Amino acid sequence: MIEKLVSFDTVSRNSNLNLIDFVSDYLEGHGITATRVFNEDKSKANLYATVGPVKEGGVVLSGHTDVVPVEGQPWDTDPFTVVEKDGRLYGRGTSDMKSFSAIALSKVPEMLEKGLSVPIHFALSYDEEIGCVGAPDMIDEIAANLPAPRAVIVGEPTMMDIVSAHKGILTLKTTVTGREAHSSLVEDGVSAVMVGADLIHFISGMMAENKARSSADSPFSPPYSTLTCGVVHGGTAGNIIARECSFLWDIRYIPEDDPMNSVNRFNAYCETEVLPELRKIAPESSIVTEISSTVPALRPEDNGEAEMLCRAITGKNTANAVSYAAEAGQFQQAGFSTVICGPGSIGVAHQPNEYIDISQVKAAEDFISKLIDRLVI
Ligand SMILES: [Zn+2]
Repeated sequence: MIEKLVSFDTVSRNSNLNLIDFVSDYLEGHGITATRVFNEDKSKANLYATVGPVKEGGVVLSGHTDVVPVEGQPWDTDPFTVVEKDGRLYGRGTSDMKSFSAIALSKVPEMLEKGLSVPIHFALSYDEEIGCVGAPDMIDEIAANLPAPRAVIVGEPTMMDIVSAHKGILTLKTTVTGREAHSSLVEDGVSAVMVGADLIHFISGMMAENKARSSADSPFSPPYSTLTCGVVHGGTAGNIIARECSFLWDIRYIPEDDPMNSVNRFNAYCETEVLPELRKIAPESSIVTEISSTVPALRPEDNGEAEMLCRAITGKNTANAVSYAAEAGQFQQAGFSTVICGPGSIGVAHQPNEYIDISQVKAAEDFISKLIDRLVI
C-alpha cells in the first residue's frame, strides 16, 4: 500500500484525484463508501470514510495526500518508486506522510474481521503542504455529518511519539506606496523601499521582544513566536526613489500568543509613526497589510482524550511540541480532541532521498492493530 500511494505524483501543484480514486475503489471493495470533498475547480479532493458502525465515540485517522516537490533535489532513486535498501523504504512521501495513511488503509480487512464497536474514520486531505488549505472544508463536513468522534490522530511523522502542541501560522503581505522622484531629490519623493526596510526592521524588533520574554521551559524550539520576512519586491532602478514595495512575512506563533497582537502593533506603528511623516511629502502614501492565510496552533489539552488514547496504545507517557504547523490545530479548532502521532522522521521530510525505517512501519502497524483492539468490544 505504501508503494501504491507513493507511486501517485501528488506534489501539491498536481491533481490528487488518481490517488483519491484508488483509495475510494479500495474502500468500496471492502463495502465502505467514501465521500469526496472537492476544491473549487474539482481538480483535487479530500476523502473521508467510516469503517464500522456509524455512531459516536470513534477515532479519526488523518493524513494529507500531497507531497512537496522533488525538482532540484539530488535523488539517487526515482522519488515516486519505493525502493527498499538497508532496512529503509525510500521515496517522496514515505515519511511525510503517505506511510501512515497506507498502513491504516492496509488494516481495513483487520478492522472488518475483528468487528469494531465504534468506528474508525479516515480523513485524507489535499494541499496541506501549501498552508493546510484543503482540510478545513472536509473538517466542516465531518463535524456536520459524522457522529462525534472521541479523538483525532494526525499521522505526521513523529517517530510514533505523541505530539500535543504545534505552532500556528499567520501569513501576511504588506504593500507600501510612496512617490517616485529622481534619487537625488529625496525631499520630493517617498521611497517605498526605504519605508519597507524600516517596517521589516520593526518586525525583527517584535521577534526580539518575543525572544526576550520567552520561557525556558517552553516545549517549543525556538521557544517563542517567530516573525520573518521571506520575500521583498520593490523599485525599478537604482536612481529612482521607489514608488512601490511589497513584502511577504509570517508569524509562527506558540499557542499562548495571539498573533493579532503583533499585527495590531505593526498597524499602529504604521499609522502613528510612519505614515504621518510620509504624508507631509506625499499625501497619497499608504501602507496596506493583508492576511493571506492562517493555520491555528495545536494547544495541549488537559487530559485530552486523543493524548490519553495514544499514551495507552504506545505506552509513552510524555507529549511533545513541534514548531511546524499541521492540520491538527484545525481539527482541534472544530472541537475534536487531537494529537499528532505517526511513523517516520520529520528530519528526512522534504529532503532528497526521503525514507522511512521499516522498523517505523512495523511500529505503526502495531499501533493501528492495538487501536483496533481497543475499539472492539
Ligand atoms: Zn506532512
